[in-house]
Amino acid sequence: MYNNTCVYCGIKIDNTNMDVDHYLPSSEFPYLAYCWENLLPTCKRCNQNSKSDFCPKSLTGKKIVENMLSEQFEHDFIYDKTYILTSIAKDDRLIEPTFDNPEEHLEFNPEFYFYESKTKIGEITLRKFFQHKKVTEEWEKLSQFIHALVLKIKDKQAVLETLKLYTELHGQEYVCFKFYEYWLTEQEEGRIDRISYIF
Ligand SMILES: [Zn+2]
Repeated sequence: MYNNTCVYCGIKIDNTNMDVDHYLPSSEFPYLAYCWENLLPTCKRCNQNSKSDFCPKSLTGKKIVENMLSEQFEHDFIYDKTYILTSIAKDDRLIEPTFDNPEEHLEFNPEFYFYESKTKIGEITLRKFFQHKKVTEEWEKLSQFIHALVLKIKDKQAVLETLKLYTELHGQEYVCFKFYEYWLTEQEEGRIDRISYIF
């Protein structure tokens, strides 16, 4: 289902370096600890450093239980993803990658290696995930790599195949293809030579 990639940042993960993130944190919602729809496969950095135990303020202190537990435990709500995300948490939350379309909330800027937010949900997600210097440094290197591919390989099909192989190995498909589109446009408009990197 998740194509061996972290649902938040898109890097390749496997069973040895995968974490299972609780979108609604189990520290705040212990009765959702095993709720399938609340579980997301992530890399360790996203789960442990970025996302951590983020909880929407609108849900703090609320007791949410799964349907099968609703007769045994007192609760404010029975878990229903659509209802909780759209009617209770509304814009006070992170992007939920299996529910939201990230492009409605974020726009990637390949020139300066960052995302811009379009909505409050995008803004909160950015604050948690993409403000780290290390993320920007990684994207800068990716951009340089794709710049070199576009500049040095004349055959477009060969560039695409190389990029496809790269993303199959390392992930980050979305960001890589955004850089590719960007450098292709820069090439078509005669600006690709303005930076030269030494490899
Ligand atoms: Zn990640």
